[in-house]
Amino acid sequence: MSRWEGEGGLVLPAALRDQFPGLAGGWHYLDTAATAQKPQCVIDATVRAMGADYATVHRGVYARSANMTVAYEAARARVAAFIGAQTEEIVFVRGATEAINLVAHSFPNKGRVLLSVLEHHSNIVPWQLAGWQIDVCPLTADGCIDLDAAEAMLTPEHTMVAFAHVSNVLGSTLDAARAAELAHRVGAKLLLDGCQAVPRMAVDVAALDCDFYVFSGHKLYGPTGIGALWGRADLLEAMPPWQGGGSMIDKVTFAGTTYAPPPTRFEAGTPAIIEVMALHAAIDFTESVGLGAIHAHEARLVTQLREALHSRNDVTLFGPDEAAGIVSFALEGVHPHDLGTILDEPNSDFGRVAIRAGHHCAQPLMEHLGVSATARASFGLYSQDDDVAALLAGIERTRRIFG
Ligand code: PMP
Repeated sequence: MSRWEGEGGLVLPAALRDQFPGLAGGWHYLDTAATAQKPQCVIDATVRAMGADYATVHRGVYARSANMTVAYEAARARVAAFIGAQTEEIVFVRGATEAINLVAHSFPNKGRVLLSVLEHHSNIVPWQLAGWQIDVCPLTADGCIDLDAAEAMLTPEHTMVAFAHVSNVLGSTLDAARAAELAHRVGAKLLLDGCQAVPRMAVDVAALDCDFYVFSGHKLYGPTGIGALWGRADLLEAMPPWQGGGSMIDKVTFAGTTYAPPPTRFEAGTPAIIEVMALHAAIDFTESVGLGAIHAHEARLVTQLREALHSRNDVTLFGPDEAAGIVSFALEGVHPHDLGTILDEPNSDFGRVAIRAGHHCAQPLMEHLGVSATARASFGLYSQDDDVAALLAGIERTRRIFG
């Protein structure tokens, strides 16, 4: 049982907000799906890594560099433990975008890839750029990837299935184990885009039975510029490097170069040392709060917001009622940008509310929904009932302005 579980149900304490300097001043930040605010411990880890501890990794013979190398590899082990993987299966990348580009480019058996209508552009464009044949799986009426349709579509020509674990627009969660079973049945691999899942639920790649898993640190209360690619050891082993440079080599001559084994093979150049240290701190922080508690906390806020929006006759809600931490909606007769602007007005009686308005890097999904944009509120571990109340008050004010 979570240490936050009390008689009133699972509620993370509002005092957690005090650890986030970015939330000072009572800001109602409802854009965590775009990027999460950072706790002080992550900021402190950044300052330490950039200051007192700073040195390069993997090269120095002096103690500071050796220590930094140990810390860098300890962070890799921490990421691995966080998602139930082996340490040498974790490749540090700039983020989910780079991770998917890496796989789309280097996976040796480029055939057909099955994507879904709800994918983020970063799980569409890399496959296009790398020359894959793309098929698109439809969605169910409530905005989940339709795995019955996937089952009917998959053929032995498919070598990859790449789906979002949680949709960044609809909050819908994939039945990953079934997706893995369907992919494997035709001999394809399953890549999961875990950007919106890892900050919201405990992830165990072995239980999911996927083959690749990617995420970005900045959505997990960590810094920008760092993320992770997990791939099964035998798959990474069979993949050629996708960028050349320092660190990723075994031996270089002008006649030819041999490469280091994974994961080093995929980490050309001086890595994002500072960001890696801060990601380690972010994972420690998130796990100290508890993914189970965060999931339950966000689920309660999603229910609260969806019920309030359901009760209005001028709001269209997208996605399933049990969405993970993310609520997309449309307010009749009001463009999401206008709503977002009014919500952010200074000196309102509900405070300033930050939501996302736009296509959320999911233009094919917008087309499917028949809209050019949605308004999206997304929660984090620091979100509270007063954030929901402020958003609802702001929607009411917008309604009065627009009539
Ligand atoms: N996939 C999903 C589901 C996302 O939400 C995002 C970020 N909005 C990305 C991929 C891309 O992540 P990044 O820009 O950090 O590489």
